[in-house]
Amino acid sequence: MLINPARLLSQAREEGRALAAFNIYNLETLQGVAAAAARAGSPLLLQASPATVLFAGAKYLAAMARAAAQTWQIPVALHLDHATSFDLVAECLEAGFTSVMYDGSRLPLAENIANTRKVVHMAARYGAAVEGELGQVGSAYLNPDDELYTDPLQAREFAEATSVDMLAVAVGTAHGVYKGEPHLDFARLAEIAREVKTPLVLHGGSGIPAAAIRKAISLGVAKVNFGTELKIPFTKILMEELAQLGDKSPERFDPRKYMAAAREAVEKVATAKVAMCWIQTAQRSADYDSQ
Ligand SMILES: [Zn+2]
Repeated sequence: MLINPARLLSQAREEGRALAAFNIYNLETLQGVAAAAARAGSPLLLQASPATVLFAGAKYLAAMARAAAQTWQIPVALHLDHATSFDLVAECLEAGFTSVMYDGSRLPLAENIANTRKVVHMAARYGAAVEGELGQVGSAYLNPDDELYTDPLQAREFAEATSVDMLAVAVGTAHGVYKGEPHLDFARLAEIAREVKTPLVLHGGSGIPAAAIRKAISLGVAKVNFGTELKIPFTKILMEELAQLGDKSPERFDPRKYMAAAREAVEKVATAKVAMCWIQTAQRSADYDSQ
C-alpha cells in the first residue's frame, strides 16, 4: 500500500522537518533510496519525472514503490514530478501514484490556478495529493532570475484558490548542477511561509549546503527534492565499475555486481539527505552537522 503524503508533510512542517523527495530512475536507484530512508526510520517519498515515467512505465514504478513498502515496512508515497499533461497525471493516478505535481508555473496565474484545480479534482478521486508551483524554478545552467521568484501574496491567492497539498516555490534554487554557490532568498521564503500555511517544496535541493537546507526547512519547507545528486554518483560509479571490466572475459560481465556498487552510492547520498531533512536537530549526529 502506498500512502498519500499530505498529512505527513503538514505534520513535518509543524515539526520543523522535511521529507527528502528522491527522484528515482530505475530499480537500483529506488532500492538505494528506500534502504536509506528505512535505515534512518524515515518515511519514503519517491518521485518520478515525466521522462522517467516514459522510460520506466507508470505501472512498473508503482509496483516497485509498493515492493519497497512491503520490503521495508515503512510508509512510502509515489509522486509524479513536474507534470504538464493531464493525460500523464491520469495515467499515473490510475497506475497507483499517490501524489502528483502539476507544473503550470510557466502559465499566466489564472490559467495555472484553473489547471491546478482541475488536477486537484482528478487526484481527489484517487485520494492522492497535489503539488502546485508558483514562480519558476529554472535550470542551474542559467543564472537564477529573481523576476521569476514566487510572489508571497500571489502564493497565498494560489494556495487558497487551488487547495493544493504542497506548494513549490522559486526562491533561488534551480534544477541541475549549480555553477557557483546558490543563494537562497530566505526573506522571501519567510514571507511566503507567513502567507501560506501549506507545506512548501524546495526544488533543486542537490548542491544546496546542509545549513541552507535546514534554514529553509525551519522557514516552512516540508519537502526537498533531490535528483541530480543521486544520478551523478550512480553514473560515475557505474562508469568506474564498467571501466574495470574492460579487458576481462565477457563471462564476468555481471549486472548484479556493477549495479550493486552504483546502488550503494545512491544509498550513501540519500542517507545524508534524510539526515539533513527528516531527522530532527536533537537526533542528528555530529557527522551530519559537520557536512
Ligand atoms: Zn523540480
